[in-house]
Order: sequence, then structure tokens, then C-alpha cells
Amino acid sequence: MAEDSLLDHALVRLDEAATHLTVDPDVIEKLKYPRETTKARLMIRMDDGSRKSFLAWRCRYDDTRGPTKGGIRYHPEASEAEVEMLAFWMTFKCAVMNLPYGGGKGAVQVDPRTLSKAELERLSRSYIQAFARILGPERDIPAPDVYTNSMIMGWMADEYSQIIGQSSPAVITGKPIALGGSLGRGDATARGGYYLVRHLASELGLTGVNRVAIQGFGNAGQHIARLLAADGHKIVAVSDSSGAVYSSHGLNLDVLLAAKDHNLSVSSTAGQAGHQNLPGNELVTVDCDILVPAALENMITARNADKVTAKLILELANGPVTAEADAILAAKGAVVLPDILANAGGVTVSYFEWVQNKQGYYWTLEEIHDRLRAIMEREGRAIWEISKEKKITARTAAYVHALSRLAEAIEAHGTQN
Ligand code: GLU
Repeated sequence: MAEDSLLDHALVRLDEAATHLTVDPDVIEKLKYPRETTKARLMIRMDDGSRKSFLAWRCRYDDTRGPTKGGIRYHPEASEAEVEMLAFWMTFKCAVMNLPYGGGKGAVQVDPRTLSKAELERLSRSYIQAFARILGPERDIPAPDVYTNSMIMGWMADEYSQIIGQSSPAVITGKPIALGGSLGRGDATARGGYYLVRHLASELGLTGVNRVAIQGFGNAGQHIARLLAADGHKIVAVSDSSGAVYSSHGLNLDVLLAAKDHNLSVSSTAGQAGHQNLPGNELVTVDCDILVPAALENMITARNADKVTAKLILELANGPVTAEADAILAAKGAVVLPDILANAGGVTVSYFEWVQNKQGYYWTLEEIHDRLRAIMEREGRAIWEISKEKKITARTAAYVHALSRLAEAIEAHGTQN
């Protein structure tokens, strides 16, 4: 997919939603373009004394419903076009969940696995130095994304607080608990998706033990495996960037997690506990009931969608299914619970973290789980009803749901803005 057309591909979903709703053309015009994207070249000192530079971006896509919100991704193939597309999705995700936020996103073009811990810290601090003037608890609030984590968010929050000369934990979410992070943020993305599937299980025809295939075994992938396995479901296949394993009897999670703890691929467990090697690109077509893409964009495309056997696709990644693949899956009767709903547990608990930072009073894990479950069920149910009523896919229904909230806010701001 050409880089410059990434956002255009994402906008297909907006155009589709707009045909099911009466909205002022001004609203669509406003949502078609990012409000601002800032680019910087981060220069850091490497441990061997040399200097190295990395491209970095921060996009504030739309702030009609509140400060812009979204993660920072560290990835060797990150690009400006990708950041803008991800920020567009954040705009709709926050509206789907009715969080008082607009959408944003950031990235650094780097393979963080090639950096030492000290280099990673210098890079993360230099990101904040470059973008501090557009960040802020009421302006733009970053969080973790692919290959970033709570340790990095801790350094970033610390750097921001040093720059402005006062403690400002609410500028970044996904921080370590010791620096004002929230309980329950670690598994929030997976847990939100889990609550959603549980709530809609009978409508989705999911009874008894289901066979689950998970693409990507990072934060979201590991936690969804744990949550679904604890309910008795069978994790039959998992993959990561280096390979995949399969077992029709269910993979052994302890064995998989031990491999990850040693920085090994899940494929290194082949031969143990009945695990068999599987080519990574076959993960999405494995025989299963629930397929969980939990890695990157554009994994289920027109090329492989017809071979997907799952009746439910739970998008824990952002953008794993292309618009062409959506049509193929819908024709087969498969349901896709779309990213802007299915993985919104992460940003929802980020919102809880921001609220707790601002009020200076912290909730128990039970309170976090109860509030997350209530929101996932409320918005999931509303989207499910829209999809039934209008006879549209859950994805289009989620966009319709979000677009009506965005349109209301854009119109309420007045016509001269
Ligand atoms: N990066 C996550 C996402 O794509 C979380 C964003 C946040 O917590 O702000 O939803």
C-alpha cells in the first residue's frame, strides 16, 4: 500500500459511515485531514560516543472533543503517513468510548531492540524535548503503543515535568504505578476485548469451548491468551514477528511465556508440550473459532481473507483488516469486532489514569475493572444494536456511533471555527 494513501484507505470507513447518517458536509471535511503533524529529528549520543539521529512525529488529528490522546510507537518502518492514519483511528476510538478526548499519535522510526537501555532512555527523553510545546494534560496526552512500555512512559513523564518545572503526571498515561500509573493499565487492551466478547457471546454464537488463534504475542496478545484460557478456551495457535506454533489440543501458556521472558520467539517452543511449528503467514488461516490479530496493520487482506475460518475476528491491533478484506469476511458471515471498539480498553484505562492523576486519588483494581467492563458493555451493546438495526457490519456501526458524537461536538463548536 502506497505510504501517502494510507489515510485515504482509512477514510473509506468514514465515507461508508456517512452514508448511514445525515451529517453536515462540513463535519466530513473537518475529519478528512489531520489538524497538525509535527516532525523532528532526534539526535542522541550512543554508548560508544557516536551520534545518531532518528525521525520522529507527533500528530494531533482532531481535538473537537477534548485534548488529543494516543500512543507513541517505536518501529523501524514508522512513517508520517502511518502516524496520521493511527491518529485518525484514535479520534474515532475515543468518540466510540465517549471519552472526553480527540485523537493523536506519535512515532519514532527506530528498532528499539538495537538500543541499550541508556540509549533508549536518551531517545525517549529527546522525544519529549522535541515535542514538549505541543504536549500537555489539557492539550496532547501520549501513552504506550507498539514497542513502547511503562518504563518509557515514566522517563517521558519525568522529562516533561523537568521541562515545565513542576510535577505533571497527567501529561502521559501508561506510567509505572510508582509515578502515578493506574492499576489495571497493563492488561487493559486485552481485558476490554475480553469483556466485549464475553458480553456479546450469545449474539456471536460462541458457546462452550472455543479455539483461539492469536497473531502477535506482545502485551495485548499475551494477556488475551491468559484471559481466554482462564475461561477454559483453547489457544490453538500464536505467532510473533519470527514465527508461529500450533497445537490442536491447546498450547501451553507457561511454556510460551517462558520463551518470551528469555527474549525468544514463540516458534522456539516447537517440540515442547506438543507444540508444532507453523509458518507465520498461516496463522490467520488456521482452523479456529476466534481469530485475534494483535500485531500490526494490514494483516488480513484480499489475499488471505477468503481462507480465514474463524467466525469472530477480535481486532486487538489497530487496522489489521483492510477494507477489501472486510467485504470478503462479511460475505462469509464472519463478524469483525473492530479495533476502534475492541482494543479501546487501553485508552479507556488511560483515561482513568488521567482522571486519577488530576484528582490525586487512586482507585482499586476492582473499581478499574468494574468501570472498564461497564463502558465496554455499554458501547459494545450500542454498536451491536446499530449494526442490527441498520443491517451493517459492526465496523460500520462503530464508525456511525463515533461519527454522530463527533458531528454533534463539531456542530456545537459553531460554524465559524
Ligand atoms: N496505543 C493505544 C491505542 O492504540 C493506547 C492509547 C492511549 O492509551 O492513549 O489505543
